Amino acid sequence: MLRQALLAASHSGAARRIVETAPGTRGFVRRFVAGESIDDALRVTADIAGQGLLVSLDVLGEDTHDTNRADANADHYAMLLGRLGEDGLAGSAEVSLKLSAVGQALDEDLALANARRVCAAARDAGTAVTLDAEDHETVDSTLRVLAELRRDFPDTGIAIQSYLRRSEEYCAELAHEGSRVRLCKGAYRAPESVAFTDDVEIDKSYVRCMRVLMAGQGYPMLATHDPRLIEIAGALASLHDREPSGYEYQMLYGIRPGEQRRLAREGARVRVYVAFGGEWYRYFMRRLAEKPANLGFLFRSVASR
Ligand code: FAD
Repeated sequence: MLRQALLAASHSGAARRIVETAPGTRGFVRRFVAGESIDDALRVTADIAGQGLLVSLDVLGEDTHDTNRADANADHYAMLLGRLGEDGLAGSAEVSLKLSAVGQALDEDLALANARRVCAAARDAGTAVTLDAEDHETVDSTLRVLAELRRDFPDTGIAIQSYLRRSEEYCAELAHEGSRVRLCKGAYRAPESVAFTDDVEIDKSYVRCMRVLMAGQGYPMLATHDPRLIEIAGALASLHDREPSGYEYQMLYGIRPGEQRRLAREGARVRVYVAFGGEWYRYFMRRLAEKPANLGFLFRSVASR
């Protein structure tokens, strides 16, 4: 209930003004967001890479309905990728791209053209792009764009949300050689007609999808902080004789950092998803919705000002 209210508030202009201007909010936001500038993102990336972890960088900004903004967002990614190459960090960091940030809501071809520019900049820097999973209504379009991008940039990855009833089918189609698939539970609002809404059902679906990906020929990227799912991932890797280099765990910046380091110490590949930029509101609200107890920390942070 609270989760749904927080996700609804992520689309409300009034709620946005209250949250963005409340004193103390920004301090709490920094727990999940690496800062506003490319310099902030590179500093955090270097720090995480120094701990033996990998990074996926997300330039915040989504659901753009303005062509200039869509182009500017792609430029921002290209600039970031150039800097990753210059700073010698491209071996440790890829980027995560939301197609809605580069024009998907306006025109799929515009999003494809902008995503191509980002993929080309990633290739020039020596790294790759993963397409984030967003609203359920964008899935078919995102899969079409992925197929186009993979013709020229075969290492482009995609995220699949296990809350979608069709997620297992998507995973089966994507579990081929050279394919990179990030499996997550899903962080948006989705109706029962297309998505499981019960946590147990979402977890069971995650396990089914993980089985398909781990048994397949691609490179699974298991994005979860859930201890039970992480344990099952390890068991499936053993079952399918996957070397630690044959899959990776992924977690969000600011969430379970001790567990991220523990897995890496044990020899696993662990990638931290690091979001940065000024457009943090919706990303931040999804983090609150995932764990409403975060609201308590936010209120304390605001009250202590
Ligand atoms: P949960 O059952 O939600 O959490 C398990 C435990 O993790 C919790 O008990 C808690 O201890 C901790 N935890 C989880 N979330 C939080 C939080 N916000 N604050 C504090 N502690 C927390 N979703 C999409 O829809 N599209 C994407 O492209 C996408 N990409 C992602 C990339 C990465 C690397 C990760 C880790 C997640 C991504 N997500 C994405 C979000 C994902 O769908 C879930 O909403 C989120 O990961 C929470 O689910 P969980 O698997 O961690 O399990």
